[in-house]
Amino acid sequence: TIFKSHQPPLDIPSSLTAWDWLFDSPYSPLTPSSPTSAGPLGGYTNAATGARLDYARVRTLSTHLATALVKHHGLQPGETISLFSQNSIWYPIAMFGGLRAGAVISGASPAYGVEEMAYALKTAKARFLMTMEGSLRVAVEAAERVGLGRERVILLEGRVEGFKTVQELVEEGRREGEGRQVGSWKIPPGKRNGDVCGYLSFSSGTTGLPKAVMISHQNVIAQCLQIQQITPVTHRKIMAVLPLFHITGLVHQLHLPVLLNAEVIMLPQFTMPGMLKTIVDYKLTELLLVPPIIIRLVRDKEVNDYDLSHVTRFSSGAAPLSEEIIQLLKKKFPGTGFKQGYGMTESCSCITAHPPEKYDYKYAHTGGAVVANTEVKVIKEDGTEAGVGEAGEILARGPQIVMGYLGNEKATQETFVDGWLRTGDQGAMDEEGMIHILDRIKEMIKVKGIGVAPAELEDLLLGHPEVEDVAVMGIKDDYSGELPKAFVVLKDGVNADEGVGRALMKWVRERKTRYKWIKEVEFVDEIPKSASGKILRRMLRDRKGAEVGVK
Ligand code: AMP
Repeated sequence: TIFKSHQPPLDIPSSLTAWDWLFDSPYSPLTPSSPTSAGPLGGYTNAATGARLDYARVRTLSTHLATALVKHHGLQPGETISLFSQNSIWYPIAMFGGLRAGAVISGASPAYGVEEMAYALKTAKARFLMTMEGSLRVAVEAAERVGLGRERVILLEGRVEGFKTVQELVEEGRREGEGRQVGSWKIPPGKRNGDVCGYLSFSSGTTGLPKAVMISHQNVIAQCLQIQQITPVTHRKIMAVLPLFHITGLVHQLHLPVLLNAEVIMLPQFTMPGMLKTIVDYKLTELLLVPPIIIRLVRDKEVNDYDLSHVTRFSSGAAPLSEEIIQLLKKKFPGTGFKQGYGMTESCSCITAHPPEKYDYKYAHTGGAVVANTEVKVIKEDGTEAGVGEAGEILARGPQIVMGYLGNEKATQETFVDGWLRTGDQGAMDEEGMIHILDRIKEMIKVKGIGVAPAELEDLLLGHPEVEDVAVMGIKDDYSGELPKAFVVLKDGVNADEGVGRALMKWVRERKTRYKWIKEVEFVDEIPKSASGKILRRMLRDRKGAEVGVK
């Protein structure tokens, strides 16, 4: 069975770039005739300082930035700008300025160390790097490693001698004058906006190292329209507490709010008190969160010090939420509604999501219904298509399914088959058309909603002088959802004791960002592998009895 969307089909623009669509088309809140132009103009607000840029300013500033990038800094259409920053109201200026100039935008986690950042710059072929003062040291070292000159490292916020700032670039563009701004970059004749990559986000997909996922202008436009269709018009305030480099942030906290003409309240950094205070100060009613934050909402005592009675709805995604937590949430916040989105970077966020009539805890354990213009099929282990209630791998097809992986034809062909995205997730569709996510078949580990590639940690541990072989997998964790665990075969003559285990964990700690740190090491005699050398992760997961465990 092919499960089709129950939503009315959407007409999705196929010739506009995301910039033109959001800032210079009948869809823009800045176009007087648009449905969202009535009422006050939304914008991005920094919750910590109160600084604010409304969408008219965003259009002006991103126009000036685009002019400076093209006229003074040699940006060519198709070149990549890497954004390596915490959440900031200047992030959308950089993103939309880049898009207006025809650049490709690639987000990187602000927690990355030098090696991780250099890998991201290289894989995305970045030509510019925009960052914050606090990340500048890592940014410069990483840029040097990939041969990117210092003049191409630009500060989004803050000032440091010897570096240009985005604000200076905006000023350079402004000084050109009204009539001398470069026009917004257009989709080349003969091409559609679905053929043009506008964004590169990182994901390990179903197997291997993190890859740069090519997201088209159309993918983002389609996803915004798909979500708008099932978003109540009253949803006008959006808290941006999830990282902007992740696909959820890119869609739901940067692009969709412009379409909705909503206000985005940005938290530069996540802290529980900071978030709670923001929710109260701005009287937020719907909260877009991830499971680890929801877990803290129901468990942390400090939550009781805040009056959250104006909150009417919780929204979750990016990782599974347990039934236990769902019930605790319902009990703690009586009268609230609940919704989820299910999808991945390769589906530009949601494949399924709850429509308003299903904003009920009764449906909270499901991933929602198929969004407009999208089809889902479930393939059973024997390769046949599942019917209602039968489990198998979820596949999806629709305008939000991305273009593929940059420079990795093999992975692209394995993941995108005949127009269908293989999700690597196991699930089943119920009679009401709601999807149930049952298991993750792919290797990916999800730590606090962020994907971690086992292959990346395996590569690193194989470089340790005492390691003969290794496999990394996720183990359950109450707060983070999952954490990486390493199964290690030591070199001959090395004693499997706690000291070695600790040394291996330190080896990872010193080289990788915190969410990739190894929680546990277990020593084994061998790593089960298939004839072709592929690690048989299921066998490892199901085996019993540890020789020495280090926690
Ligand atoms: P990412 O590319 O980082 O967004 O990771 C995508 C993966 O996160 C999916 O393939 C799922 O394994 C998992 N995921 C996303 N949303 C959900 C959800 N609502 N429930 C369970 N797992 C999810």
